[in-house]
Amino acid sequence: MLTISIDGKSGSFPSGTTILAAARAVGVEIPTLCHDDRLHPNGACRLCVVEAKGWDRLAPACHTILTDGMEIATASPAVDEARRTVLRLLAADYPAEALSRSPEKPFHRWLRHYGVAPSALQLSTAARFRDDSHPYLHVDMAQCITCYRCVRICDEVQGQFVWRAWGRGADTRLRPHGGDTLLASPCVSCGACSDTCPTGAIEDQSVLRHGGPERWTRTTCPYCGTGCEMLLGTRGDRIVQIMPALDAPVSKGHLCVKGRYAFEFTHSPDRVTDPMIREGREWRPVSWEEVTRHVASRLREILAKHGTQSVGMLGSARGTNEENYVAQKFARVVLGTNNVDCCARVCHAPTAAAMKHMLGTGAATNCFDDVERAAAFLICGCNPTEAHPIVGARIKQAVLRGARLIVIDPRETELARHAEVHLALRPGTNIPLLNALAHVICEEELADEAALRERVRDVMAFREFIRGWPPERAAEICGVPAERIRAAARLYAGSPPAMAFHGLGMTEHVQGTEGVMALVNLALLTGNFGKPGSGVNPLRGQNNVQGSAHMGCEPGKLTGYVSVEDGRDAFEAAWSAPLPRAPGLNLMQMIDAAGRSELKALWAIGYDVAFTNPDTIRTHAALETVEFVIVQDLFFNELANRFGDVFLPAASPFEKDGTFMNSERRVQRIRQAVSSPGQARPDWQIVCDVAAELGHRDAFAFRSAEEIWEEVRYVWKAGAGISYARLEHGGLQWPCPDEAHPGTTILHVDSFAGEKTAPLQCLDFVPSLEVQNSEFPLLLTTGRTLYQFNAGTMTMRTPNRDLRQTDTLDVSREDAVRLGFGEGEIVRVTSRQGAVEMPLHLDPRVKPGELFATFHAGETGLNRLTGQGRDQVVMTPEYKVVAVRLEKRPGS
Ligand code: SF4
Repeated sequence: MLTISIDGKSGSFPSGTTILAAARAVGVEIPTLCHDDRLHPNGACRLCVVEAKGWDRLAPACHTILTDGMEIATASPAVDEARRTVLRLLAADYPAEALSRSPEKPFHRWLRHYGVAPSALQLSTAARFRDDSHPYLHVDMAQCITCYRCVRICDEVQGQFVWRAWGRGADTRLRPHGGDTLLASPCVSCGACSDTCPTGAIEDQSVLRHGGPERWTRTTCPYCGTGCEMLLGTRGDRIVQIMPALDAPVSKGHLCVKGRYAFEFTHSPDRVTDPMIREGREWRPVSWEEVTRHVASRLREILAKHGTQSVGMLGSARGTNEENYVAQKFARVVLGTNNVDCCARVCHAPTAAAMKHMLGTGAATNCFDDVERAAAFLICGCNPTEAHPIVGARIKQAVLRGARLIVIDPRETELARHAEVHLALRPGTNIPLLNALAHVICEEELADEAALRERVRDVMAFREFIRGWPPERAAEICGVPAERIRAAARLYAGSPPAMAFHGLGMTEHVQGTEGVMALVNLALLTGNFGKPGSGVNPLRGQNNVQGSAHMGCEPGKLTGYVSVEDGRDAFEAAWSAPLPRAPGLNLMQMIDAAGRSELKALWAIGYDVAFTNPDTIRTHAALETVEFVIVQDLFFNELANRFGDVFLPAASPFEKDGTFMNSERRVQRIRQAVSSPGQARPDWQIVCDVAAELGHRDAFAFRSAEEIWEEVRYVWKAGAGISYARLEHGGLQWPCPDEAHPGTTILHVDSFAGEKTAPLQCLDFVPSLEVQNSEFPLLLTTGRTLYQFNAGTMTMRTPNRDLRQTDTLDVSREDAVRLGFGEGEIVRVTSRQGAVEMPLHLDPRVKPGELFATFHAGETGLNRLTGQGRDQVVMTPEYKVVAVRLEKRPGS
């Protein structure tokens, strides 16, 4: 340790500490302009200069490293004069009105502090660059002081390389590269340039429109499963700005466009603000008392007439852990049914099943901080830079620093462009490809023999089986050259530790569960488990899909992912109620039961199954038969509009307290920042009121989200150590069995949930039923885009709509030319299930013979095309493979 003094205050610091960091630690503020903790210090502005005893020049504090015994003065006549000189130079060509418009900006604060006034303007051409094209970002280069923070954060954190210097000498300013405006540039709208800018040259449009925040509330992003933490800036009862939480463990002071900017939905004028009962075709607003009595009485009638198997409940990945816990408890204790599910069914249920079966725990093995510890990445069926952008940015930065990368994806995604090996397989052929990788690892003796000996079983049988999967065999099925498969296997096995990430391109197939098992096989063969920078890590699609299933919104699983039978005694004791005996129906089985007129009531919380389920025509025909459909949401969605009988208005994620669980098993707080409009209220309160009306007041007598969480901790032993008090200091990853436990960043270090070894699995290939033929010659695969989120319920009600207005059908230039279609043309797409019309987009990332489409826009209704194929184990729909044909739109 080095002992130093700063302005007479002593402190001890490890070697490598800068003067700036040491000064902050002892409570001394040193002015900075070009410095941002997220960036490498560059010492360009020299506002942070200080005096060091014995030095013959002033030292820039941001990048001068301490030496033992240093005596530092951060204020002195020489220091003040140097700082004034810097500020005078920077303010020589600066608009004075900017100071009054945004007095809190660091540059303006330091001008005031040192009594420097901006001088008259003689703007250079570069400084006259103004840009209002972007819906979220305003650019005014008259306020640029060329600190290059925007350039550096775009390069070093986001990896997008948008900002470039323009002009010469003192006239130099910044301008977006690759377009005349920010909107036309490759900008991904993360807003990092705006939040680092110390002057307001780049500023959030929302702040200019509504004024800056008066109050900040820390919470967790309500979009993807990355779990970025953010500060909600509010003015009155309105969100006006969101900033990244600089010390957030996952996002590390960064957010993507959804987390940073897509908050306007919460103030949307079409929020439903009153409970509603449908009478004929009309919705009638009613009080909570009336709707609660109505719901209770209709459920009572249906249960009495048709029995407990006739009702179903859907929890929500948009809801908190506490709300999902209450929902599944309601289903089991009040309705007496295990018919409870959530949208994990349509995304990562195969992951949970596969990993639970092989590794003993159905969740990510490692943590996002391992991205910086991995030597190589295997990215399978996921597109992190669009669907999980903060994870994507971290992986991209790691690769730019030298980590190796394999991408398995039919399209050339952004990460595929950075990959050493891109395996552009035919959709639906994950098993042959992953088997062939395993074959090469075994045949070329690339496996980790020590790991196989000590921690893996069924090795001999697997070696025998995998001999039958040489790359040449897989190449014929997958369309990937055998040599490329060999190169990928050598890279993955030869670059330890290697970290695998996967997404819905792995799970939404008829062999989704087996696909994840095949991925686990690779990790087991190569010893990539139980250590930093390794493992198998699902990227969960929605903010709390991991939590909703883990809380028990699964027909066969109780809270903590314990099977109903294994947990029966403990939960019956905890709830003082019997658990239902009949096996529950999952979402797909509920729709099947509805198709047979056996499902009479469905309560869907924050889940628009009418829009998001596959095979829309059959799904709608089934929902038509359900007598009583309760929709609990923020907006009238397709389920409510077409089939709803009751609408229960819910609070948005910014209007309530609770916790979310991210992809890496991290439980984090969300906090109420604004009030709900009208009578909207948190989901858990709505469910608890109906439970009370149905005679279960005591079991649902919760007064706060924290009280619910206390019960969760009681029934879920692996989460018992996660208290709200501890969460005040940051999220915790389970298992965390007691309050002294630090949480678990890496699973399977010594055992697999108590088992010493994990089994390899021999996995035969079962082709999809979505086969191409002369009638349906093209293969369509589906996915998410950066600017929109799932059903579009939230993002389509924000200016993200200006950034991406609708879904497109992405097609290769070769196919477009062959079929005679042009960019933007509306085409008709027909599958065995139905047809849609949508605009065509020529996309070089798509291979001939294949198509890609997003599924966010209600007007497109892409699920009219998706089929009846389901994962063989957990029934997750096969969204990723649809055989289609393309035609001119009738009449065009
Ligand atoms: Fe939110 Fe995901 Fe974006 Fe993070 S990466 S800000 S969690 S949408």
